[in-house]
Amino acid sequence: MSRFMSPRFAGLEAYTPGEQPRDQVYVKLNTNESPYAPSPEVLAAVSQAEVEKLNLYPDPTGKVLKEKLAALYGVEAKNVFLSNGSDDILNFAFMAFCDSERGAAYPEISYGFYPVYADLYHVDSKVIPLKEDFSVDYRDYCGIGRMVVIANPNAPTGMEISLAEIEEILKSNPDNIVIIDEAYIDFGGTSCVDLIKKYDNLLVVQTFSKSRSMAGARLGFAIADAGIIEDLEKIKYSTNPYNINRLTLAAGEAAVDSNEYYVENAKKIAETREMTTVRLREMDFTVLDSKANFIFAKSNSISGKVIYEELKKKGVLVRFWGKAKIEDFVRITIGTPEQMNVLFDKLEEIIAEQKGD
Ligand SMILES: *Cc1c(COP(=O)(O)O)cnc(C)c1O
Repeated sequence: MSRFMSPRFAGLEAYTPGEQPRDQVYVKLNTNESPYAPSPEVLAAVSQAEVEKLNLYPDPTGKVLKEKLAALYGVEAKNVFLSNGSDDILNFAFMAFCDSERGAAYPEISYGFYPVYADLYHVDSKVIPLKEDFSVDYRDYCGIGRMVVIANPNAPTGMEISLAEIEEILKSNPDNIVIIDEAYIDFGGTSCVDLIKKYDNLLVVQTFSKSRSMAGARLGFAIADAGIIEDLEKIKYSTNPYNINRLTLAAGEAAVDSNEYYVENAKKIAETREMTTVRLREMDFTVLDSKANFIFAKSNSISGKVIYEELKKKGVLVRFWGKAKIEDFVRITIGTPEQMNVLFDKLEEIIAEQKGD
């Protein structure tokens, strides 16, 4: 930290993204990207004609994309907010809805960005442990009187809470925003989007980064009561009105137009996930039941650190935290069946080598 930085950031610990090493070609199963390319329609939309228009600012209202998303999700355009990746929405929400009196609550084991935003804005946070089986106990959040942030399915566990449980949290916190982060909803979970018509305190956050193969384009969206959307727009217009570039807007519109392609891909990924779960259990791994495009797994005989390090040496990247309660778990992104076969082969090798030692 230079002497110029405000001391209010002295204690801030920034988010650490998953590693992106360039020293060799890895089978990359560590940041939950889609293994499939964007749809042909998206490739066509990012055309030379679009590039030629980069001298012009993009539409700051994102009108066309909002209307397409509204039609897809059965809401109105005024219920849709667009942003530069869904991380941006989470950032805006902590900025807009929390302060020294308005705290936040989120699970202890969940997306690593929540505590970073809470720290950034000096938000008093209640960090709530998961149950023994790694599930979220919705009762912990009922009547909590703070902004609630829950990833559903949760990351890195992949486990889901039910709509009925989400409703209980919403009903018992009428004066607080409840954020349901649905980054992984398209891989088999049940979305709570329809509940925005019943609860004006619900903010559903989704992203084009995972199921829509556009992590590199940076596009996220939220669906909520129009009042919440207006608040988020106010923050956006107070920071960066042009936060989504032209090419990403064009790509996003084409992605919504080719929704079927992504539904198919999500189905394939879910099938590969089920196959991977079975296979890893056969290799004596404990694997949580996942509804996401990753699995959270631990070997019953080899430490998480060794699994992570040995896989990396063999050219396969997975995510490892080595934190209390999950020290032996690794999170493995579901790739193509071919990529998973490489993973299985390398794991077989590691198991044999560890036995040999
Ligand atoms: C990946 C992820 C996000 C953010 O993704 P963006 O690329 O910023 O849209 C948000 N929440 C969770 C739980 C995620 O895993």
